[in-house]
Formats: sequence, C-alpha cells, structure tokens
Amino acid sequence: MTRKIELIGGGPAGLYAARLLKLKEPGLQVTVHERLSGAAETFGFGVGLTESTMRNLAVADPATAEQVRAASYAGHDLRLKGHDATVTLHGARNLAIGRAALLEILSTAAAETGVEIRRGSDIDAAQSDADVIIAADGVRSSTREKYATELGVRSSLGRTRFAWCGADFAVESAFFAATHRGEDLFVLHAYPYGDDRSTFLIEVDDVTWHSAGLQVFDTQTPIGETDHASVALLEDVFATELRGRKLLTNRTRWGRFTNLTLERWSTDNVVFLGDAAHTAHYTLGSGTKLALEDAIALVEALAGESSIAAAFAAYEAARRPPVERFKKLAHRSQAWWDTYRLRAGLPAERLALSYMTRSGNLTLTDYAAEQLESARRALAWLGDAVPDSAADLDEWVLSRPLTEPELTLPTRLLTRDRLRATTAVHEVTWSEPDVWSEPADALIATLTGSGCLPVLLSGPATPEAVAARIDLGERLRLKGERLVGVFLEGDGDRAAAATAVAAGRADFVVTT
Ligand SMILES: Cc1cc2nc3c(=O)[nH]c(=O)nc-3n(C[C@H](O)[C@H](O)[C@H](O)COP(=O)(O)OP(=O)(O)OC[C@H]3O[C@@H](n4cnc5c(N)ncnc54)[C@H](O)[C@@H]3O)c2cc1C
Repeated sequence: MTRKIELIGGGPAGLYAARLLKLKEPGLQVTVHERLSGAAETFGFGVGLTESTMRNLAVADPATAEQVRAASYAGHDLRLKGHDATVTLHGARNLAIGRAALLEILSTAAAETGVEIRRGSDIDAAQSDADVIIAADGVRSSTREKYATELGVRSSLGRTRFAWCGADFAVESAFFAATHRGEDLFVLHAYPYGDDRSTFLIEVDDVTWHSAGLQVFDTQTPIGETDHASVALLEDVFATELRGRKLLTNRTRWGRFTNLTLERWSTDNVVFLGDAAHTAHYTLGSGTKLALEDAIALVEALAGESSIAAAFAAYEAARRPPVERFKKLAHRSQAWWDTYRLRAGLPAERLALSYMTRSGNLTLTDYAAEQLESARRALAWLGDAVPDSAADLDEWVLSRPLTEPELTLPTRLLTRDRLRATTAVHEVTWSEPDVWSEPADALIATLTGSGCLPVLLSGPATPEAVAARIDLGERLRLKGERLVGVFLEGDGDRAAAATAVAAGRADFVVTT
C-alpha cells in the first residue's frame, strides 16, 4: 500500500494535490518540495479562473474553494478596445486571483492537513525512496527532462513574445487593447485581480521584437533580472491604460510560450501533472484550471485503484480528453493572437466577433445570445436588415448572396453540385492543424494572385481538419486576393458555416 508520497513543485498543482491526498488518506506521509524559498518569489501576477473551475474546486474541497473565491476579484466585464470603438465581449462573470494569494491559500490549506512543505528544496526523483513521486514542477520541469524519452516529450515555442507585468490599481474591466507606433504593434491583455492590482500582459510579434529594439534590450539584460528598458518603453506605450503609473515587475522579461505535449504522463512510480505534463496557451486562461483539475483526478485515481500503475492509467484516461480539448481550443486562440496584426484594422465589432469565435468554442448565435447589438453591428457588412433575434442570425447569414466581380452566388451555403454548376474552383486539400507553418506559407504563396479562380478548401471530415481549413480560409481571406470556400462534410454544421462566414473565415461554405 502507498504510504509515502513526494511532490516536486509547490505551484497550484503540487500544493492542491498534496492537500487532497491528506484529506483523502490522513495516514499518508506527504511532502512538497518547492525550489523557491518564499511565495513572493513566484512568477506572474493575477490568473483568471472560471465559474466551472470554481464549481469543480467546490466539489473536491469546499473549504479551499471558499477561500479562493473570497480572495478573488470578481464582477467585471471583458471588453475589447478596437481602433474605432470599445466592445463589451461578455458581462460580469470574470474571476481572477493573484498567483501569490492563490499559493498562500493552497500552502496553508495543505499544511493544515499535515502536508510537510519544504521550501528551498530541489529534489531529484531518482534519489527519492517514496512510493509515488508526483512531478508538479511546471513547464520547465527538470523531472520531465530526466524521463524525456520514456514520456515522449514534444515541445515548441510560440511565435510571439510576452511580458507578464502588473499595475497597482484595478482596471475598470478586463480588456484587450493594441497600440501602434509606426510599424510596432503592442497588444495588451489587462485584467483586475484585486482592489489595487491588475495584470498587464503585453505581447509583441517578431516585427515589433526587432523594430522596437526589444531584442537588444533583452540581450543586454542579465539572466534572472527584469528587462527595465523594455518595461520603460511599455510604460510609455500604455501610459493611458496605466493612468501614467509604473508597471509592476517581478523578474519580468520577454518570454515565448512553450507548447508542450507528452505521449505518456507517467513512468514507473513518477507521474506528471499541471504544466509539467501539458500546456495550453494563456489566452484561453486555463493553465491553472487544468493543473487543479489534474490534481483532483490524480488523487481520486490513487485512492480508487489497487496498484500505482492502474491509478496512473486511470488518471491519464480521465484527464487526457479534457486536456486535449483545451489544448486544441488554446492552439487556435494562440494562432489568433499571434497574428493579431493582420486583423488590427478591422472595425471593433467585427474584431470582437472574430475574437469570440476564434477557438471554435462559441458560435455566432452563442455570442449574439449575450451581445446581440454588437453581433448585429458586426454583421452589417453582409447586408441591411440584420435580424433582431439571435436565433435568426445563422440562417440570415447563410442566405446572403455573394456578389463579387469574380463570382455571384445566391446564398453562402451551397452543395458541391450547385457550386460546380455555377463556377470552376481551384480545390486545395489541407489537413494540418497549423495554418501558419512553412508548408502553409508555401501553399498561400501558390494561391496568391488576383483574378484567379475561387479557392475551395477541402480535406478530412474530422473536427480538427474542418477547424484548420476554416482558419486557413481566414488566412487566405486576410490577404484579400481570392474568394474562399470551405468544404464541410455531410449536410454541414449550419452554425459552424454561419460563424465562419460571419467572422470572415470563409466567403461561402460547401456541403456534400
Ligand atoms: C503569461 C501567462 C499568463 C497566464 N494566465 C493564466 C490565467 O489567466 N489563468 C490560468 O488558469 N492560467 C494562466 N496561466 C497558466 C498558469 O500560470 C499555469 O498553467 C499554472 O501555474 C500551472 O501550475 P503548475 O502547478 O502546474 O506549475 P507552476 O505554477 O509552474 O508551479 C511549478 C512549481 O514548481 C517549482 N519547481 C520547479 N522545478 C522544481 C524543482 N526541481 N524542485 C522543486 N520545485 C520546483 C516552481 O518553483 C513552481 O513553484 C498563465 C501562464 C502564463 C505564462
């Protein structure tokens, strides 16, 4: 029987798993080894949590959930500040907490149950005599590196760079904004997480990285220190949003997001959870959620299975599907933000609709159900008399004629036969999830040139492949040179078809 468990890493995943283990089996000997010696040393500022995460926490451990809620900042909208207007994306259902506050709550809660927390302790899994070792040592997990071959580690770096900063006041709502300085584009994600605290997360693409001199500032900054030259520039760029105040920093410098996937989440008696096992881009705001939910599932599995191997298998079987789902949503979200520059000139309402539907998680109708007037304004480019009921928008969008010099279609949704009878098309098959890769660049280059046939993107019927061609459709449309149709299998998903057209990802949609 398992008696001794050691956890490597005192982040949300490790501390929460330790607490739940002791709640479940008080007789266990549970130790958390955290490399940093104090919570104040931790990275990052506030993290957003959703109500669904809070519900899961309340079931697993009501006392901790209550404390997390009490320490969170809630009741603010999410808005997008476009170049011409500000649009409310959704109402007051955001919840955010300072990372240091979250860790404090989880540390105290773990210690209360009898977990031993050793700070300033950095252990090697191979030297431990524990029955089970839980590796919760984050995205840069050295434990994972040791077992990289057994685990089948795949990782890649995001295309943009981000700086995670804070501010000493609560912004009035969570919001996105972008500032141009000549060629340079700085994208801000700001949200409050306390009465006197906000997160200011700033992203730059490669163009800005070089042209604004950020690469030089970064090179001149010693390892482990804040990049003060970049921070000073960002304070100037976002002086209005910052109300003239300084950014708060904590060893702040530019980073690239690590996209991480493991083929297996355990080896022998070592099991991985949270960021050590998988990452999902921060623009989905789900990394902490996944880490905490991993902890819940792992503890359930360890308590419910007779052998360690069976428990690890049960844990992975329970968690892989939701994690994969979030990773796919996050992948599309990441690509959207990576290429923000290309959409920055859109009217705010259209940008808002594009943003809300970027991951495929929400449809036009979902968005319109909450923000009907914004959604209607976003559709004005498709014609007059936009319906005033969210339920009627899909059919209205699909019934719009396409009247371009190269192609006239009576509606935006048509069968393949109908399309064939109307026009010749240049059909292209695409199935890769990354539509900004080098092969995608090469494909786009071959399709570039005005006055050519409309492009029809086709390929496999899997949801991932359909999503990829919708995103490729958007990429082609952003170039503005070709009309783009996207093929959906079978009768097609009318909501997905309408959303693709409404959000500018396809000119028309084709079904079998
Ligand atoms: C810019 C940005 C914004 C984000 N915003 C959000 C958000 O809004 N909402 C959200 O849910 N998530 C967000 N996340 C993701 C979130 O921060 C992570 O997913 C989450 O912290 C993962 O928790 P974890 O416990 O797995 O790992 P971590 O939080 O990374 O904790 C790992 C811990 O292990 C310790 N450690 C590392 N190596 C060792 C070792 N060898 N020995 C002992 N200790 C070690 C580290 O010091 C650290 O304390 C964001 C991430 C980024 C980068």
